[in-house]
Amino acid sequence: MKTDWNAKDLDLHRFTQQGGELTANTPLAALARVLDVCLDHALVGQRQCQWVLRGELRSMGGIDQAWMHLSAHLNVRQTCQRCLEPMDMAVQVDSWFRLVADEATALAEDDDCEEDLLAMAPDFDALALLEDEILLALPLVPRHDACHAPLSAALEDDLPHPFAALAGLKLPKQ
Ligand SMILES: [Zn+2]
Repeated sequence: MKTDWNAKDLDLHRFTQQGGELTANTPLAALARVLDVCLDHALVGQRQCQWVLRGELRSMGGIDQAWMHLSAHLNVRQTCQRCLEPMDMAVQVDSWFRLVADEATALAEDDDCEEDLLAMAPDFDALALLEDEILLALPLVPRHDACHAPLSAALEDDLPHPFAALAGLKLPKQ
């Protein structure tokens, strides 16, 4: 069954019952909290985040459990914390969520299970979940695998030449 799901106003009960699938390309300009942690907003805002949200029911001991899977990939631009140059970085999201009756149940069960829990909602904002998961997937300290050469070259230029120090010891003979 083909249904047009609204990412910002999703009925999670229906979405999981019907095995819903929501596929979208969202410009980063529409993911404000992600754009906030990026450099070059005008440029990066035009990049697309490709993402898919799927709902499903699993029978666990005769009881149906509702689950959702979120996958996404995008490219962000942040400052490398080693060389302080901009760096483009691919980010992947691949997360499972089990749906529970309400926020209270999610809080109560959260410590006892490994999976992430979400409360059932008739008007769920999947874009907010997408933003949360992208922010969680970003490295705490973004760094190039190998920083560019110019930094080390610049550093070496600033170091005193070894012979310059010796030269200071040679006092002119009077
Ligand atoms: Zn770097």
